[in-house]
Amino acid sequence: MKVTVVGCTHAGTFAIKQILAEHPDAEVTVYERNDVISFLSCGIALYLGGKVADPQGLFYSSPKELAGLGANVQMNHNVLNIDPEKKTVTVEDLNTHEQTTQDYDKLVMTSGSWPIVPKIPGIDNAKVKLCKNWAHAQTLIEEAKSAKHITVIGAGYIGAELAEAYSTTGHEVTLIDAMDRVMPKYFDSEFTDVIEQDYRDNHVQLALGETVESFDDNAAGRLTIKTDHGSYDTDLAILCIGFRPNTDLLKGKVDMAKNGAIITDDYMRSSNPDIFAAGDSAAVHYNPTHQNAYIPLATNAVRQGILVGKNLVKPTVKYMGTQSSSGLELYGRTIVSTGLTLASAKQQGINAEQVIVKDNYRPEFMPTTTPVLMSLVYSPDTRRILGGALMSKYDVSQSANTLSVCIQNDNTIDDLAMVDMLFQPNFDRPFNYLNIVAQAAQAQADKLTSVD
Ligand SMILES: Cc1cc2nc3c(=O)[nH]c(=O)nc-3n(C[C@H](O)[C@H](O)[C@H](O)COP(=O)(O)OP(=O)(O)OC[C@H]3O[C@@H](n4cnc5c(N)ncnc54)[C@H](O)[C@@H]3O)c2cc1C
Repeated sequence: MKVTVVGCTHAGTFAIKQILAEHPDAEVTVYERNDVISFLSCGIALYLGGKVADPQGLFYSSPKELAGLGANVQMNHNVLNIDPEKKTVTVEDLNTHEQTTQDYDKLVMTSGSWPIVPKIPGIDNAKVKLCKNWAHAQTLIEEAKSAKHITVIGAGYIGAELAEAYSTTGHEVTLIDAMDRVMPKYFDSEFTDVIEQDYRDNHVQLALGETVESFDDNAAGRLTIKTDHGSYDTDLAILCIGFRPNTDLLKGKVDMAKNGAIITDDYMRSSNPDIFAAGDSAAVHYNPTHQNAYIPLATNAVRQGILVGKNLVKPTVKYMGTQSSSGLELYGRTIVSTGLTLASAKQQGINAEQVIVKDNYRPEFMPTTTPVLMSLVYSPDTRRILGGALMSKYDVSQSANTLSVCIQNDNTIDDLAMVDMLFQPNFDRPFNYLNIVAQAAQAQADKLTSVD
């Protein structure tokens, strides 16, 4: 069986390892246009902020490792065309520019995503940079050495992390976003109000509710960014406004979502049974709404990559879907979320309610304790948990994972209110803080029902 893999960061690396583990005789060829594999982009902000000293730690595999497992690893090779009828790929060796056409039995599309670059005047200015891969990380660290002022455009997770990182390395930072809050997709305003105050306290200038209209070189040799509300002079701009799937090679050849994400079944098969897709090139099943969605995360990429290997020959293991659980640390606060926010539920026409609770994570008689801000979003009709978020200077990251399991398993606020959780004063109260937020949701839901 000849297997061709297009692209090798997370989904590709995990797919190749699993394919070779399940089918040691498969002839697996991988084409990767870059010269590295398995780079963890999530480490870029940590590297820029100086928390990670050695960026080599951000790679967990190598072409050598995959070759050692039996893969034919073709680095600096760009796939130019895929012909699903003839089952061939045409590939360019980026060193020699030689083009060849190879046949396959199964094709694995792990070509990922690329940052969205809108058509704004001056967007191709050399001072406007992207943040996606290892080459970008190197450029950003190099350019930051001479930059006094850095502007981050896009206050999603990635922009939020970059703005924080640069504000801790002595740079003046402006964070621009067209939305009026930071990270509005993940957190409701009770959370983002606190996060925004942290930015202000750390001298990050917030330009929220502003849309970038142009980039221009100015007389001082710097960059002027004009928005619909203001003008910002800066040395470096980083565009972080989202990603689109890198799937043009299969356009019109397999079913795709509107944005180009390949639609797969539960076994990672596209509408062409010999073409599999995983990671940022594919849509995911979003459990809170039971709909397809585009959620480009490494968590999804590694799981889907493994499933390609398990399902390549015969549908065997189903994809469980995702809650889009994610987290970040900004100025010493752990900020995590899973599933829907109240605002996103309402936007999608879902009947949802939310409770917000702030409570100390452990008893006040302990030498110290720390408040945890929590939100729980649920359906008042079914009492099913739809989402939640936590924020604290205490590490509450694993609680988002607990909520994620609850959503995955269709648990209700009543389940979470009483589920067994350990009690020991070092860690929590007789009811864990997740029990407590669910009990608050029960009280709210009961009140709503009694009013009806
Ligand atoms: C700054 C940053 C921080 C992030 N932080 C997190 C985080 O904390 N947690 C999390 O879960 N996710 C995070 N993500 C998202 C995560 O990095 C992506 O979801 C993940 O990289 C997707 O992996 P992938 O293998 O599907 O695709 P990609 O990483 O996009 O890799 C696709 C690969 O395919 C190659 N390729 C594409 N087309 C071709 C072609 N025609 N021929 C040959 N090769 C090709 C590309 O060169 C690339 O190497 C972050 C992303 C960024 C940019």
